[in-house]
Amino acid sequence: PPYLPNPSRYSEMPFRRCGNSGILLPLISLGLWHNFGHNADFKNARTILRKAFDSGITHFDLANNYGPPFGSAEETFGRIMEKDFKSYRDELIISTKAGWDMWPGPYGNHGSKKYLIASLDQSLKRMGLEYVDIFYHHRPDPDTPMEETMGALDQIVRQGKALYVGISQYSAEETLKASKILKELGTPCLIHQPRYSMFDRWVENGLLDVIEKEGIGSIAFSPLEQGMLTDKYIKGIPEDSRIAKDGRYLKEGNITEEILKKVKALNLIALGRGQSLAQMAISWLLKDPRITTVLVGVSKPEQLEDNIKAVQNFVFSKDELNDIEKILQG
Ligand code: NDP
Repeated sequence: PPYLPNPSRYSEMPFRRCGNSGILLPLISLGLWHNFGHNADFKNARTILRKAFDSGITHFDLANNYGPPFGSAEETFGRIMEKDFKSYRDELIISTKAGWDMWPGPYGNHGSKKYLIASLDQSLKRMGLEYVDIFYHHRPDPDTPMEETMGALDQIVRQGKALYVGISQYSAEETLKASKILKELGTPCLIHQPRYSMFDRWVENGLLDVIEKEGIGSIAFSPLEQGMLTDKYIKGIPEDSRIAKDGRYLKEGNITEEILKKVKALNLIALGRGQSLAQMAISWLLKDPRITTVLVGVSKPEQLEDNIKAVQNFVFSKDELNDIEKILQG
């Protein structure tokens, strides 16, 4: 039967304005880094995407090299777009990126105009789209003049291949420089995508001030530290977890005694708030209005259901914040 989205999909999900722009993003966005490649179960991937859209998640985040293999998450997304979301294209914000290793030779990586323009053309083909809503430079490239990389982003918008542009993993200083160049070109930076979680707080050290001043929104990636900031590893390593199944980026060695101690203490605070630890880890990011949206990954639809409930409570008492701070400082 054809997919019919939940008619009340917009009633529960709050939206925030992305910087100084016309775009509103749902408080939770969904990333396709894991669990959407050729190695993943297609039916599960489709169920997750439907559940997301049915819950008011209008924003899907991809990159050229998500998979494995590279490109396959975009292909899977393209298939599901064709089957389920075709009639809803104008209700969706679809993002992709280029900046990391993608194809052999000197033109399939880093920050040249040659790479960015060619990569987006490939991404559009894989997803079966005429344009993406947001195109990102995936990481700074100190060896390419920033004017060239930002010029490529501007050109992509002028060609109609993306509506907005963003940057990921840029430092506070690099962000300020990129933002100035993009403003001069007439294509302001919509959004910054940094890693941000209770365990990785580098953005608090300057970046959030820069984006606020420049009118740039933000989307926090790996908010659950790839699963560490949930209750899943408290009793060992489940067989269906990212560590057991994948192990490329999150390894058994990451679950140290020190981490486990913090996770267990945070879990108790979460339970006291009537939340799961995953929910609290997301809410804790959303308490800052400069965070436009939190970008989660999920391997199962149930995890998405869990995470979405974070939007019901992102108010913390002073005591809760102090207790959390003590745990995080160790
Ligand atoms: P998370 O920190 O949200 O980790 C997601 C993983 O945590 C899931 O795959 C699942 O792992 C586990 N999990 C999620 N929800 C729950 C839950 N409720 N209970 C228990 N376990 C849960 O994010 P990711 O690291 O996946 O990154 C999210 C997105 O951010 C990516 O898809 C991508 O779009 C983006 N990203 C961007 C980067 C960049 O450089 N710009 C880099 C990395 C990511 P399990 O398999 O164990 O079930």
